[in-house]
Amino acid sequence: MPDTTHDLVIIGAGPGGYVAAIRAAQLGMDVACVDEHSQLGGTCLRVGCIPSKALLESSHLYEQTAHELGVHGIKVKDVSLDLKAMLDRKDKVVSTLSGGIAGLFKKSKIKHYQGTGSINADKAVVVTDSKGKSQTVKAKNILIATGSRPASIPGVDLSLDKVDTSTDALSYDKPPKHLAVIGAGYIGLEIGSIWRRLGSKVTVLEYLDRVLPGMDAQLARHAHRTFEKQGINYELKSRVTGVKSGKQGVTIEREGADPVKADRVLVAVGRAPHTEGLGVEEMGIERDSRGFITVDENFQTNIHNIYAIGDVIPTMMLAHVAEEEGIACVEKIATGYGHVNYDVIPAVVFTHPEIASVGRSESGLKDEAHEYKSGLFNFKGNGRAHAIEQADGFVKIVSDKKTDRVLGVHIIGPDAGSLIAECASAMQYGATAEDIYRTCHAHPTLSEAVKEAAMAVDGRAIHA
Ligand code: FAD
Ligand code: NAD
Repeated sequence: MPDTTHDLVIIGAGPGGYVAAIRAAQLGMDVACVDEHSQLGGTCLRVGCIPSKALLESSHLYEQTAHELGVHGIKVKDVSLDLKAMLDRKDKVVSTLSGGIAGLFKKSKIKHYQGTGSINADKAVVVTDSKGKSQTVKAKNILIATGSRPASIPGVDLSLDKVDTSTDALSYDKPPKHLAVIGAGYIGLEIGSIWRRLGSKVTVLEYLDRVLPGMDAQLARHAHRTFEKQGINYELKSRVTGVKSGKQGVTIEREGADPVKADRVLVAVGRAPHTEGLGVEEMGIERDSRGFITVDENFQTNIHNIYAIGDVIPTMMLAHVAEEEGIACVEKIATGYGHVNYDVIPAVVFTHPEIASVGRSESGLKDEAHEYKSGLFNFKGNGRAHAIEQADGFVKIVSDKKTDRVLGVHIIGPDAGSLIAECASAMQYGATAEDIYRTCHAHPTLSEAVKEAAMAVDGRAIHA
């Protein structure tokens, strides 16, 4: 096959890579995107954000139907689980959305090369398909968007039977009787919730003395209490040192505590950058001590015209961060301008209730002795939250003591993931807490809790 030259070749069609490809095409570039999978969308769409949210929704509906509708005066008998149908629906959601990206590529005339991409000494991309056949794709610019893969810890071999990654745990053909989860981060809480709702006993082993490291401490304490009430068993300060797998299940060894036995174990201790076979070592592309590719303010690596974005660089490992970086990177290539505001990145855990955060945590501000004001409003003071029977949780806003500029917002409660968007917009525009509460919020909506939290910053919440 003859060599082809593109303005931009992107390696990886996850939310970073495919969004960058579409934006670059809008900007007039001739773009190609290399991905080893036939389904476009990367980790996020195939085995991450989307399938996990599909199962979170289905498992929540199952639990609600089986146990929580009585309070609304709805009686349901004989609720049963058809796990195969639930998994089939999840797969259908994934294939529909992946087909959608293929359609967008077609519309934007973006060429998809299926195969593993590696960069050669001539700064071209060699694409090798599953049969070992290679072709060389030449590019003026190369963007590495190869994402991440599940990480492990010493003593835990992910190739063992019943020692699972998030990918495995999104496709169990029956709920494990006892599922142990190593790590009380995003995946531990979301996937742990799915299987608890579907009938598994779930034990989460966490090295730290808290869940959700990095999130506001008060938010994390409330989340911990809430999920414990829901039936998840937490073993905090549990440093896992090894896992043995046998016919009867798994044995998880911990430092200074008895081992835990379970049927399966989900290892959710973080993710590692995906750079294997990419040619980064041969090309001398610089990486940090944890293996993430390092870039400058233009997302350019130490090699001219080779860029990197998303999970493979050391920024927050979130789909929307990868998207922002992909857009900013190609805008910089095409126009010289492009920007990501890392101070205003919302983060959402899609449990029930949802947990959402943006900006600085109260604990972080305290540690820095930054003078701040804080306002907290409980959903129990919100009419809509009662109407939908979800009055647990709170909104907390922290603002600068002198200027009142909003520094951070932390929410646990109904639809927190959508409520945080208003707060992110406010912060993006440099709003004060007063700006938020002087904005009229419709009644009865959950967003009134955001307004009341902003009022609480000045000690003037009405329904508190
Ligand atoms: P990826 O999505 O990892 O895509 C990289 C692509 O490149 C993959 O298709 C990979 O196969 C391909 N690739 C790698 N190397 C090569 C190569 N050499 N040649 C060709 N192709 C290659 N984030 C959120 O914001 N919200 C969520 O709700 C959320 N939920 C998640 C749930 C789970 C279970 C997991 C695992 C992750 C979740 N994430 C979530 C994180 C999110 O998936 C990642 O941050 C995001 O996918 C990163 O995007 P990316 O484009 O950098 O890389
Ligand atoms: P995480 O970083 O969120 O949590 C890992 C947890 O494992 C931490 O609490 C850590 O203290 C603990 N841990 C590490 N070593 C341990 C040990 N030896 N013993 C016991 N506990 C140990 O990682 P994750 O949950 O695997 O998720 C990976 C990434 O994927 C997240 O950081 C996030 O960026 C992304 N993600 C996002 C979402 C979302 O946005 N809703 C959902 C899932 C995943």
